[in-house]
Amino acid sequence: MKSIHFWGAAGDVTGSNFVLTANNGDQVMVDIGMSQGSRENEDSNFRLLDYDISNIRAVLITHAHLDHIGKLPILAKMGFSAPMYCTEATKKIAEISLMDSVHISKEDGRGDMAYTADEVEQILSLMKLVEYDQPITVFGFTATYRNAGHILGSASIEISHTDDQIQNIIFSGDLGNSPQDLIPPTTLIERATTVVMESTYGDSAHPVEDVRAIFLSEINTIEKTNGTLLIPAFSIERTQELLHLMDHLKQTGEMLEQTPVFLDSPMAIKVTKIFEQSEDLYNLELKQDNTPFGFSGLSFTLRSDESKDIIRHKGAKVIIAGSGMMSGGRIMHHLKHFIEKSSTRILIVGYQAEGTLGREIEEGAQRVHIDDASFDVHAHVTRIKSMSSHADQPRLLKWLAHIKDVKKIYLVHGENPQREILAEKILSDLGYANVSMPMMGDELPVE
Ligand SMILES: [Zn+2]
Ligand SMILES: [Zn+2]
Repeated sequence: MKSIHFWGAAGDVTGSNFVLTANNGDQVMVDIGMSQGSRENEDSNFRLLDYDISNIRAVLITHAHLDHIGKLPILAKMGFSAPMYCTEATKKIAEISLMDSVHISKEDGRGDMAYTADEVEQILSLMKLVEYDQPITVFGFTATYRNAGHILGSASIEISHTDDQIQNIIFSGDLGNSPQDLIPPTTLIERATTVVMESTYGDSAHPVEDVRAIFLSEINTIEKTNGTLLIPAFSIERTQELLHLMDHLKQTGEMLEQTPVFLDSPMAIKVTKIFEQSEDLYNLELKQDNTPFGFSGLSFTLRSDESKDIIRHKGAKVIIAGSGMMSGGRIMHHLKHFIEKSSTRILIVGYQAEGTLGREIEEGAQRVHIDDASFDVHAHVTRIKSMSSHADQPRLLKWLAHIKDVKKIYLVHGENPQREILAEKILSDLGYANVSMPMMGDELPVE
C-alpha cells in the first residue's frame, strides 16, 4: 500500500475521514464523519468533497457515531455507488442517526445544502454487513473488523493489500473504556505495521468515581423530596447504560419500585430497541439478564403529547431526555418547567461543549436563557465525570503495547495538546519514536 490521506480528525476530534491508496491506485475510504463545533466547521459537513473519489472501491465504517458517518449522504449526492461495509448494529443505528440529522439540518436552516431522506436511503442500500473477525475482500484489499468495545457494533479495522505481504494497517476507530457495562471489552490487535489511532483522551486517565453510588444518591434524594431528576443523555450507549443501572437498582430494592422513569427521546427509544435485539453483542454479565433495559415504572414516551404530559406527573420521577448537551430536544421543555424548582436535580453524565446551555449549567450559572425566556437555576446540579465510552490514556497505551511489528504510528481523532502528550508518553513508555500527528489534507506513507 502506498499512502493514507488524512481528510479529517487530523488535529481535531471530529470529522474522521481517511483514504487509503494501494500501489495500483485503488482506494478505500475509512469513515466519513461530520465536524462538530463551530458553525464554520458544521457548514463544511454539507459541502461536496473537494477531492477525487473515482478510485474509491469501498467505504469501511468503524461505527455509527455521526463524527464517523455523518457525511455518508454527501457521497450519495456525488453519485457514489461502491459498497459500504459495516456491522449490522452500525447499520441499524446509522439509519436512525442519519435520518435524525436530515431533520436537524432542515431545522437548522441548511436549505439546499441539507441532505435528504432519499440520499440516506441510497446510502443504506449500499451497505453490506460484516461480522467481527471475518475478513472481507474488495479488489486487492482485505479488511477485518475487530470489536472496538466503544459502542454497540463499533469496530477497529485491519487492512492489508495483495501488493505487499508484510504491510498491515490498523485503524483503531474509537476505542472503548473497557470494561463497559453493556458490551464486551475492546479486542486487542495482534500485529500491524502502521497504526492509525484515536487520541481523544490521550492526555489523561479517567477519574475514579463510584458511579453507582452517585447515581443512587441522586435517586434516593428525589424519592425523599418528591423531586424530579433530569438526566440529559446521549441516545447511543449512555442512555442504555443508565437504564441498565436502574434495572439493577430496582431489582435490589435500592430504588423504589414505584419511582417512575420516563425515557423521553424518540431517538433513544429507537436505539434502545436495537440494543434489545442485539443480545449477541452483549457482554457476559448482560447476557445473564433477561430484560436488561426493562423494569417496572419505565415508560417510553415516543409522542410529543406524551412528553408534555410528563410534567403533570406529581411526585418523584426520573426523566432521561436529549439532547445530551441541552442544546435542543425535549430536555428543553423539561428544563423550563423544572429548573426553577429547588426539588429538581440535574445529573450531567457526559461532556458539555463550550457554548452550550449544558456547559453554562455545569459551570454553575445562576440564571440561564432558554428559547428567549430567562430562568433562575434553583435545581441542584451534579456531574458524573467518569462515564465515558472512550479509552483514556492508560487504555490507549495498553491497546498499542499489545500490537507487534509496529513501524509507524499516526495519531488522529484528538486535539493537538492531547495527542502531543500521548506521543510523548508513547515514546517514554513504549519506546516508539516514529509517531506522527498528521494535519488535515496530509498524504503520508503506509509502512
Ligand atoms: Zn465514537
Ligand atoms: Zn469519534
